[in-house]
Amino acid sequence: MSDKGILFVVSAPAGCGKDTILNELFKRVDSVGYAVSATTRAPREGEVDGVHYCFLTREQFEQKISENEVLEYTEYCGNYYGTLRKSVEGLLSQGKDAILKIEVEGAMNIRNKFPEARLVFILPPSWEVLEHRLRNRGTETEDKIRERIAQARTELDFARNYDYLIVNDDLEAAVDDLVCVLRAEKLRKEHNNALLDSFK
Ligand code: 5GP
Repeated sequence: MSDKGILFVVSAPAGCGKDTILNELFKRVDSVGYAVSATTRAPREGEVDGVHYCFLTREQFEQKISENEVLEYTEYCGNYYGTLRKSVEGLLSQGKDAILKIEVEGAMNIRNKFPEARLVFILPPSWEVLEHRLRNRGTETEDKIRERIAQARTELDFARNYDYLIVNDDLEAAVDDLVCVLRAEKLRKEHNNALLDSFK
């Protein structure tokens, strides 16, 4: 029997490339799965229910909270987002590592509930680069852009509470760094009790 999987939390302000990094990670590493969150926001083009999110109504979401099916949740830009117990437990009980892609307050809540979880924060190469990326995303109004920039500042303030910091300057290097974090955590003795027991 192998040990249970490890819970990883990955956060980053918008514009830091976290989705791209995670997509590359999932292509490269089989032993890790994405723990699908629930949200009440509308699906974006190309998003599939049950794959990118479980898309719920507010009533359905609140029902899940009352049934203790949501490990943590937050309201972000007017919508609920939450970690589904089933998504996480499903992966960990199969011995897979689970990745939660959640914002900073959710990450702090997960840390309080699961002190063994490992938290990874993805940083932009510099504040100037991030601001430039957020300004050049397309058709947003100046107010919306300012809101995103302020949100990014607040989120960056949380970075020092995380276990690992990865700078996304070069995509391949950032994915390599994340693979290293997963690998190193996997080698910790705390996650290898079954291996140690086999030598008893
Ligand atoms: P988006 O609408 O762009 O997919 O996500 C908005 C924000 O919600 C992102 O920062 C994302 O990481 C965060 N988020 C997604 N799922 C969850 C969740 O289950 N819990 C929390 N706390 N945040 C989430």
